[in-house]
Parts: sequence; C-alpha cells; structure tokens
Amino acid sequence: LMGFVGFSNLPNQVHRKSVRKGFQFTAMVVGESGLGKSTLINTLFNTGLYQPKEPLPPSAERPKTVAIESISADIEENGVRLLLTVVDTPGFGDFVNNDESWRPIVEDIESRFDQYMEYENKVNRQKLIDNRVHACLYFIQPTGHSLRPIDIEFMSRLHTRVNLIPVIAKADTMTDEEIADFKTRVLADIACHKIHIFQAPTYENEDEESLAEAEEIASKIPFAVVGSDKIVTTPDGRKVRGRAYPWGVVEVDNEEHCDFVKLRQMLIRTYMEELREYTNDVLYENWRTEKLLGMGV
Ligand code: GDP
Ligand code: MG
Repeated sequence: LMGFVGFSNLPNQVHRKSVRKGFQFTAMVVGESGLGKSTLINTLFNTGLYQPKEPLPPSAERPKTVAIESISADIEENGVRLLLTVVDTPGFGDFVNNDESWRPIVEDIESRFDQYMEYENKVNRQKLIDNRVHACLYFIQPTGHSLRPIDIEFMSRLHTRVNLIPVIAKADTMTDEEIADFKTRVLADIACHKIHIFQAPTYENEDEESLAEAEEIASKIPFAVVGSDKIVTTPDGRKVRGRAYPWGVVEVDNEEHCDFVKLRQMLIRTYMEELREYTNDVLYENWRTEKLLGMGV
C-alpha cells in the first residue's frame, strides 16, 4: 500500500484512548417532586442509582430551599467506562413561593464553570476534571395546558448556561392526542419566549441516514417519557420494562408508547459527545468571556 500514511487510523487511536480513560458525563434533572426524575435516571442508565426514599413523616422539618445533590457512578458497558454524575435538585417548584427556585441551580452550574476555569489555569493541566453540567432534563408537568410561569422563568434563566432538554413527565397519564396537542403548545411557548433548547446538530455532507435520525429525534421534542425500573409482563407474555395498568402495559422501550428511546438516543447513544462539545465550545466559552469582561480584563 504505497503512499499510505496511516492517519486514517486516528479515529481508532482516539477511540482506544478514550475507552481506556473512560468518559465523563454530568446530567442534571429539574422539576417538581414526584414527576419521576429519579425513576427516569434509573431507567436511562439502567442503574439503581436512586433507591426509593422513605417519605418524610409529617412532623419532619422540611427544607425550605432548593437543594443540590450530586451522585456519581462508574458504569461499564462492553468494556467502555462511563463516569456518570447526576445532579438532582430536590425542592424545585415545591414551595409556596418559587420565585427564586432557579437561582441555586444557576449558581451551581456557574460554580462548576468557575472550578473548570481554575483547573484550566493550573500549571499542571494533566488531570483536567470536567464537572460541568452537560445536559439538563427539565420535567414538565403533564397538565395538558401549556407551560407555567415557573417553567418559562427557569428555562429563560438557564438556556444560556446549559443544554436544555425539555421532557413531558409521566406521559402515560395522557392520551396520544393530548400529548400531541400539549407538545404543540409547549413548543409555541418556547418559541414565543425565545428559549433556546438543545438541537441535535446536523452537518453538511452528512449521510442521509444520520440526517433522517436527527430529524426523527428533533420531531419528538419535548420528549414524552415514561420511566420504570420494573419488569412487567405484557398480555401477550413478553417481559418488558414498563408500567402495568388494568387496561394494559405501557412499555418504556416501545416507540409506539412513548419517546423514551428517542430521549436516550439524544442524551446517550448519539449525541452525548455533541452535548459535551456544545457545553465546552459555546456555553462555557460565552460564560468565560462574560466573566473576564466583567472583571475588566
Ligand atoms: P421524583 O421525585 O421526581 O424523583 O420522582 P420519583 O422518580 O421518585 O417518582 C415518583 C413516583 O412516580 C413514584 O411512585 C414512581 O413510581 C412514579 N413514576 C415515576 N415515573 C413515572 C411515569 O413515567 N409514569 C407514572 N405514571 N408514574 C411514574
Ligand atoms: Mg427524586
């Protein structure tokens, strides 16, 4: 093979190296208590990251602010390691007055940028730890109406800092028609308030298959999701992840039943690297510029 230089093997080299190092990914979940955030994270990553909590006794002192809790897990699939961190935000939207619910979340995201900038400025940058939030799943209540002021406020405050992925929680509580109508209204609200949500990027000269895939995924936003970490038996005897009802079984992994598969594609199978890249190249870079200008640099 005369004239073969060998750089076409670069993707394999990069691949081998990243596989050895493992991938770091941080996802945040936001939405009121009981919307199925913990369940969906368990379903997405097929882990028992979240164990059911005992409900607080009525007498217990309840927190009055949004808490930020982060859990990490080192998971492996076919020899590929993923260092997954999930940032949970219990308390969001749960209080009588939720005007400032977004604030601790913005602060958390920005403090992770701050920390990253500090690492970058160190003399030894060998071990650059990336704790930035790469995606934020925002859980919308399945009300069937439209976005509420708290949803709009949150997304408007956060969209320049994090990749927003809106999801309609507990989609099994609505009919297909209700979901379709609700999606239309949610998208109209998002457009009207000029909220930027994460879009799967497409490139020129991309093959038709990838373009079709990107379009398919985009057409499902906001993803109507159903979570479950239970295996149930369908009327025709298949064992599936799902939720059983007297009238039948809602299958998590069935695209006819909900958009879980498409969400997983967006977040994990197809666009995880794009989410990381956009966080670094656009969101972090803009924040950094604003910060340095603000300091009069
Ligand atoms: P979180 O407070 O947002 O973390 O919600 P959890 O994941 O703890 O779920 C709260 C309750 O809703 C639990 O009883 C779950 O079994 C249930 N749940 C979770 N996901 C779904 C879903 O997609 N559909 C329905 N109907 N219930 C769900
Ligand atoms: Mg939870």
